[in-house]
Amino acid sequence: MTDGKIVVPAQAAIGTAESHGPMIDPFGRAVTYLRVSVTDRCDFRCVYCMAEDMTFLPKREVLSLEELDRLCTAFIEKGVRKLRLTGGEPLVRKNIMSLIRSLGRHLDSGALEELTLTTNGSQLARYAQELYDCGVRRINVSIDTLDPQKFKAVTRWGDLGKVMDGIRAATAAGLQIKINMVALKDVNEHEIVTMLEWCHEHGHDLTLIETMPLGEIDGDRTDQYLPLSTVRARLGEQFTLTDIPYKTGGPARYVTIEETGGRLGFITPMTHNFCESCNRVRVTCTGQLYMCLGQEDMSDLRAPLRASEGNDLLNDAIDEAIGRKPKGHDFVIDRNRNQPAVSRHMSVTGG
Ligand code: SAM
Ligand code: SF4
Repeated sequence: MTDGKIVVPAQAAIGTAESHGPMIDPFGRAVTYLRVSVTDRCDFRCVYCMAEDMTFLPKREVLSLEELDRLCTAFIEKGVRKLRLTGGEPLVRKNIMSLIRSLGRHLDSGALEELTLTTNGSQLARYAQELYDCGVRRINVSIDTLDPQKFKAVTRWGDLGKVMDGIRAATAAGLQIKINMVALKDVNEHEIVTMLEWCHEHGHDLTLIETMPLGEIDGDRTDQYLPLSTVRARLGEQFTLTDIPYKTGGPARYVTIEETGGRLGFITPMTHNFCESCNRVRVTCTGQLYMCLGQEDMSDLRAPLRASEGNDLLNDAIDEAIGRKPKGHDFVIDRNRNQPAVSRHMSVTGG
């Protein structure tokens, strides 16, 4: 197993995705969207996501870039049309661009509609142009505040200036940017309007996310939780919000803001159950397939991946797991026990 650059072999020799038919779960939902966490590591320590002294996985447990490529290709052969790389911070993984470049072949063949990533933006200035050259057209960048001091407090190790340089580089390269902002009570709840105006002025969509109770962190989650129903009601006093059917394949519900002419999305796992239209599954950087972000059930794909060079065992394991995709999740922030509803961190399944 290596983690060097992926050498993309001649087209015929590798998995250029052939069609294996759609993955349909027991509730009739086609799985067409895969999110893959390519590393559990990160150069930030956001307070709602990680503890400051995180212990990361030993390298041997993490899928190599070649294994990630094989795994993604198997899913594309089974009907995945949209692939999102996430983490941890995907752009801190060594040689990550060779994986992205290699996966770009599925865009060229038409098997994949979209290859995208969610990033904290810290490395974007360096990689933006290369991402565009690999076929990436849209990215999500997570920024919770435009105040440099507060940004440092929320991310613990982050530098807003660098992220802004990254956003400028990405815009110049032609990438469309959506900003993700986790709405945090008392921390950034009064900056949502500022963020909205900044995003729309610069041509970025904004998506607000409720904090989800994933993994042990240093603080108390019930202190951070801010229902987006409250945020929406407050915004409604100042702006004209109109529901629109716009979809990016993800769980956000969108409105347009008449005054700014831009789009605003809400991801509301806590106040609104979005499971009925779920088309997604997630794979961790160790090859665990989670059929639902809010459930503990998973299927290990690393063993079948490493057991043979062919993909028969892997395909069987995927089929078996999709057959167990649950109807939905039941997130609760437990105010009595203050326990996370799901014990793994968001950096494991990548959001
Ligand atoms: N490091 C990248 C980033 O921050 O964009 C990608 C991984 S991060 C886990 C993906 C998204 O999950 C980010 O937008 C982050 O703000 C969000 N996130 C992390 N922990 C969360 C939590 N407990 N609840 C809600 N969103 C969370
Ligand atoms: Fe890192 Fe993203 Fe988690 Fe922040 S939210 S600690 S940037 S993985």
